[in-house]
Amino acid sequence: MSRAEIVVDVAAIRHNVRRLAQFTQTPVMAVAKADGYGHGMLPAARAAREAGARWIGVATLDEALALRDDGDAGHVLCWLTVPGDDLMPAVARGIDVTAYTTDELDAIAQAAGRAGRKARVQLKIDTGLSRGGATAAHWPDLVARARAGEEAGTWRITGIWSHFASSELPDDPANDAQEKLFREALDLAGAAGLQPEVRHLANSAAAILRPSARFDLVRCGIATYGLDPAPGLTPSDLGLRPAMTVRADLALVKHVDAGAAVSYNGRWVAPAATTLGLVPVGYADGVLRSAANRAEVLVGGARRPIRGSVCMDQVVVDLSGDEPDPGEPVILFGPGDDGEPTAEDWAEAAGTISYEIVTRMGGRLTRRVVDTERDDRLEDGPDDSREQ
Ligand SMILES: *Cc1c(COP(=O)(O)O)cnc(C)c1O
Repeated sequence: MSRAEIVVDVAAIRHNVRRLAQFTQTPVMAVAKADGYGHGMLPAARAAREAGARWIGVATLDEALALRDDGDAGHVLCWLTVPGDDLMPAVARGIDVTAYTTDELDAIAQAAGRAGRKARVQLKIDTGLSRGGATAAHWPDLVARARAGEEAGTWRITGIWSHFASSELPDDPANDAQEKLFREALDLAGAAGLQPEVRHLANSAAAILRPSARFDLVRCGIATYGLDPAPGLTPSDLGLRPAMTVRADLALVKHVDAGAAVSYNGRWVAPAATTLGLVPVGYADGVLRSAANRAEVLVGGARRPIRGSVCMDQVVVDLSGDEPDPGEPVILFGPGDDGEPTAEDWAEAAGTISYEIVTRMGGRLTRRVVDTERDDRLEDGPDDSREQ
């Protein structure tokens, strides 16, 4: 055990991937970008594969190559390159790359030439997020160039996809508009002779809430890790389990008098004598400063509010006169089974989304991978989880 750590239960990830596949009746792409949303990309991806994830989705080429280095030989899609990125290793190793523009197709053609291998390419249409992807105006050109390259044997167009802007607001008419544009884009691609293996549009929220958007594959990130894409959105009978717990050892317990000003700038002043606990994690470890005076942690079976500013290395919590021993476990957040706050509670307290809470956890926190299904013994790291 370490003084302050992230504990990731890969059994929860496996459970979530199985539940999502069952619930959606659609093959799952587990999204493992950004170090598996802070859970560790490799253990998360391994767990997702064990549970049957047909695809792993990542943002960058480096993330995709790290999966191959780890021995993952399955379908992997990446979707965010910049000019000058060397696409050759990804093409050589059978990773699906995404093209938004004909310039990107040119770069992929070059990489395929150097790799001496047909590339696997997916095309992205921008249906309204106005982020990556070809606009509807550029789509016909992208499709024509893609088809020409297919005929020339340069690549195979393996997928066509898009991404929602407001899937966590299922009643937003933008969702209908995006899905309609996506279908039109698919029709145009079909008319040009493209026959992709997978058409995909849905992230977690859409996978769960919008059956019409499931197509051949659902791209589940946040739900893979057991978190609700938006508070109250996921039906509880889906039974997703949060995979991440963040815990620390209580560093110090002390009595203060009424009037004590707590932490920088005295943003909390004790209205009465109380006991305070010092928790050895701060914003350098991913505890958001906006959680000051709002978020809670679990110590000794009770929720304890953070008092005053979040510091770089530490926060102070109100123990309300209780005197737990220094060294007592502090749970910042977890699945909630023992009354501890969840990442969603932290998101609400910090004015953000659970995605940001889990992906930011890091700094000096160590990560420990456990498997509550297979082993009560707590594993020491991601490398051990491989042998299970
Ligand atoms: C991050 C990401 C996802 C996963 O979204 P969730 O809401 O976490 O399920 C899916 N698709 C794309 C393109 C992404 O960037």
